[in-house]
Amino acid sequence: MVVEIISVGTEILLGNIVNTNAAYLAEKCAGLGLSCYYQDVVGDNEERLISVINTALSRADILLLSGGLGPTQDDLTKETAAKALGKNLYLHEPSKEAITAFFKNRGLEITENNWKQAMVPEDSIVVDNPNGTAPGIIMKENGKHVILMPGPPNEMIPMFDNSIMPYLSELEPGIIYSQTVKICGVGESKAESMVEDLINEQSNPTIATYAKTGEVHLRVTARSEDEKEAKKMVKPIVKELKGRFGNHIYTTQEDVTLEKAVVDLLVANHLTITTVESCTGGMLAARLINVPGVSEIFKTGYITYSNKSKRRVLGIKKPLLEKHGAVSSEVAKDMAKRSALFAKADVSVGITGIAGPDGGSEEKPVGLVYIACNVCGRIDVKECHFSGNRMKIRESSVSAALSMLRESILAYYSEVTFGEKK
Ligand code: ATP
Ligand code: MG
Repeated sequence: MVVEIISVGTEILLGNIVNTNAAYLAEKCAGLGLSCYYQDVVGDNEERLISVINTALSRADILLLSGGLGPTQDDLTKETAAKALGKNLYLHEPSKEAITAFFKNRGLEITENNWKQAMVPEDSIVVDNPNGTAPGIIMKENGKHVILMPGPPNEMIPMFDNSIMPYLSELEPGIIYSQTVKICGVGESKAESMVEDLINEQSNPTIATYAKTGEVHLRVTARSEDEKEAKKMVKPIVKELKGRFGNHIYTTQEDVTLEKAVVDLLVANHLTITTVESCTGGMLAARLINVPGVSEIFKTGYITYSNKSKRRVLGIKKPLLEKHGAVSSEVAKDMAKRSALFAKADVSVGITGIAGPDGGSEEKPVGLVYIACNVCGRIDVKECHFSGNRMKIRESSVSAALSMLRESILAYYSEVTFGEKK
């Protein structure tokens, strides 16, 4: 079935808020095996909302709307959607009671316009909203499903997960099972080209690619009568992906992050770690410390941002800094070497780069970052070129460092390097 996501709100249109609801719903719908070909953003305007609803009805089976269910005059999604489907509104007593209880529990006074939220279209399913006053609405008309949800994410997400998702999964027979294959150290376009043939052939199971900073996730989804059968369908595709991406796959488990995979690898090999960061200012240490249990292996983290601190904290020699500059493979290497000695750690990762917007030159442009990984004295250095703003460059540096650290540890133990050769 085809779904269309419609986000209602002038604030989104003006860029005052980011449309996170649409991203959330799109990802969930893909997981349910629903196809989404269009997403719309429309302001709080009756005429334009009717036109969007009519267009969406002409090309989708399910319309998922969020926003504009509030009590004020500019919230007009429910009234407009009912109008588009030719349905009248009536006062829904259970919703009126829920609204009364909601206000009473919080010691708030109910204003007259709150009763607007208890008005629902005839022949609709009214969906509970335990986190707010606006109920959700499901309308059915000519085999189409029009679903209205409140805009605030803390109301929409639980409503979608607890009530709308079970409704949608019943529309298509069978169950959906998916498994995510998480890849690092391979760029997005390369990863996509490596599975292009599989994607072109796909119908069931399907393969979807999601690009994350420094990672690519491939989600394999099968629809079948029962879970056992769906799992059986996913298995050979995951096996095929394992064959194609090899060691670049860091996990096939949903809840394992890249930093967790790295920490698990360090713990499994009894390796202690230290980090030494310049342009990332502690972000690598922070990501590692995201992982519970890291205290077992994380020794210390250095932030040596200035040249002075590189000299004072780590004892990097002035001539080395002067000869090559702070952003150089030589200095990155020395950072990783010296910090491991100072911290008495088995492993160290050093990052030095130019995050911009200033400080770049023709020879050393913004986005140039050197990462050095020292695994028990075996030091790898990588020159990276990242694009984007300061934050993006720093985030990319940290993801690349985690990915490279994983490769360096594996290479140290196997002494066989894999992946793209420098
Ligand atoms: P309310 O009762 O709060 O008015 P509502 O259902 O009428 O809720 P809106 O008025 O459209 O929803 O939006 C309320 C708030 O919810 C917005 O200010 C914004 O913070 C958040 N919001 C709305 N739509 C989205 C969206 N698509 N993505 C992320 N946040 C959203
Ligand atoms: Mg509102």
